[in-house]
Amino acid sequence: MERLSTPKATKEIVEKYGFKFSKSLGQNFLINSNIIDKIVDGAQISPGDYVIEVGPGIGTLTREMASIAKKVVAVEIDKTLLPILDETLKDSPNVEVVNEDILKCDIQKLVDEKLEGGPVKLVANLPYYITTPIVMKFLEENIPVTHIVVMVQKEVADRMKAVPSTKDYGSLSVAVQYYSDVDIVTTVPRSMFMPQPNVESTVIRLKSHKEPKYNVNDKDLFFRVVKASFSKRRKTILNALSTYGLEFSKDDIKESLKEANIEENRRGETLSIEEFVKLANVMSQKST
Ligand code: SAM
Repeated sequence: MERLSTPKATKEIVEKYGFKFSKSLGQNFLINSNIIDKIVDGAQISPGDYVIEVGPGIGTLTREMASIAKKVVAVEIDKTLLPILDETLKDSPNVEVVNEDILKCDIQKLVDEKLEGGPVKLVANLPYYITTPIVMKFLEENIPVTHIVVMVQKEVADRMKAVPSTKDYGSLSVAVQYYSDVDIVTTVPRSMFMPQPNVESTVIRLKSHKEPKYNVNDKDLFFRVVKASFSKRRKTILNALSTYGLEFSKDDIKESLKEANIEENRRGETLSIEEFVKLANVMSQKST
């Protein structure tokens, strides 16, 4: 089977169907076999695997994954790609294309009905305009996902992987690392896409923690405390938390910081996830 991941093969198929690339749907197709192989290797795809792909495009990555995995469900929003996928995936009977918007899709239902309840791997060259909502949807909705291996904008990968006291560290870093271990698979130059995007890209791998790594009493409060702490990066944690509109008085926050052994004049961006957990747990006892 000839690979689709060359400029020539991609051009041929899009021209054959008169396909028009949509910028607003983030359509930048991969045209390099090395990168496809790195994504497939990075996801450690093996014959028993169930894979969800978001945005198969013309099926370049889909076809390679299907040649190894047990089944691939590919969720594609763009109807005009469906006839192309019919052709490119005709020899891949273990692929099911679902014509839906991933953000409106009931992913757990999809996993239950089409992938025997999982566990699943999410592997995709994501549309950049919705990278964070997609990744967070998989993590937050308790989908049984073991690996998330996705192409994202380089800056987003940097933020997901960032450690405390760096400029990239923020609520996205805490949210992603709360659920998973993060590492970089490879960086990808613009020339590997058709058409070329305006940004540099990175393939990032999130491996979900098998058991929850952090013992959080009240997850909603934890994430609100994290958000509040990063809301005013130049202010002290005491100031940021007491002016954000949380349901705690300044005195309560002062006391909680003390009990959690966090100096009140530190900045939110210096706190480790463990410290955020400790603080939110102390605060959760005050609110009851
Ligand atoms: N996987 C292909 C590749 O690597 O060449 C295409 C990747 S392209 C960056 C992103 C794909 O996501 C496009 O096919 C686009 O139509 C699709 N897409 C965009 N928004 C989507 C959404 N909300 N739900 C599902 N698919 C979406």
